[in-house]
Amino acid sequence: MAHLLLIEDDTLLRRSLAFNLEQAGYRVSPAANAEDALAAARVDRPDLVLLDIGLPGMDGLEALRHFRQELSLSVIFLTSRRRELDQVLGLELGADDYITKPFDIDVLLAHVKAVLRRAHPPAPSPRETTPLVVGDLTINPAGHTVTLAGRELELTRREFDLLHTLAIEAGHVLSVEDLISRVWGAEYEGDAQTVYVHIRWLREKLGDDLRHPQRIVSVRGIGYKLQEHPVG
Ligand code: CA
Repeated sequence: MAHLLLIEDDTLLRRSLAFNLEQAGYRVSPAANAEDALAAARVDRPDLVLLDIGLPGMDGLEALRHFRQELSLSVIFLTSRRRELDQVLGLELGADDYITKPFDIDVLLAHVKAVLRRAHPPAPSPRETTPLVVGDLTINPAGHTVTLAGRELELTRREFDLLHTLAIEAGHVLSVEDLISRVWGAEYEGDAQTVYVHIRWLREKLGDDLRHPQRIVSVRGIGYKLQEHPVG
C-alpha cells in the first residue's frame, strides 16, 4: 500500500481528499502545514507528497526544496492559481507533476498512479540504457548525462527524458500528444503548454536559435523532431 503525505490547509478539502485517497487504497498522512508535514516525513517516509502551494507559514515552494533536496521525495503540486503554476514552472524546482484546483478526484488518482509508477519504474530495457549519438549530441541514459560537442549539459530529469525520447526517434516527428504520453505518462492530464515550455528550455540549453531552431525543429500542426545533422 503506497503511503501519501497530503499537505493542504483547507480543512474541508484536506478531509475530503484524504477520505477519497483512502477509499482508493492508499495510506494517507494528512497535514495542515508544511512544518508538521516535514516533521512527519522524516519519521514516516511517504512514497509521494501531495503539496498545496499556498500554505500558512512555510509556503509550498519552500517546502518543495526540503522534500526534494533533503528527503528526495516525489511531489505533486496542488495549485489553485495560474500564477502559482507559472511560478513553479519558472523556478524549475522539479516537482514531478502538478494539478490545478478545482480538480476531479479521478484526475488526481490518475496523476498519483502515474507518478508512483515513475518513481518505482521497472528495470530499463537494454535499448533504454544504450548511449545515443545524434550529430554532436551524446545522450547517455545509464549515467543520465548529455554532452554537446563534448561539453556536459545540466538538464532537469524531465528535460533529459524529453531529449532522450526525441533522440530515440531522431529525424522523425513526434506529436505533442506522443511526447506527453511518453515523457509525462499516459494518464497525464496536463496541457500542451508544458511541452512547449520544456522544449523552449531544451533549446536554450542546446544553444539552439529560438527564432529559427535547427536542432529541435517544430513541424507545424504535428509536433517536434530532433535533427540528425543540425545546420550551422
Ligand atoms: Ca492553501
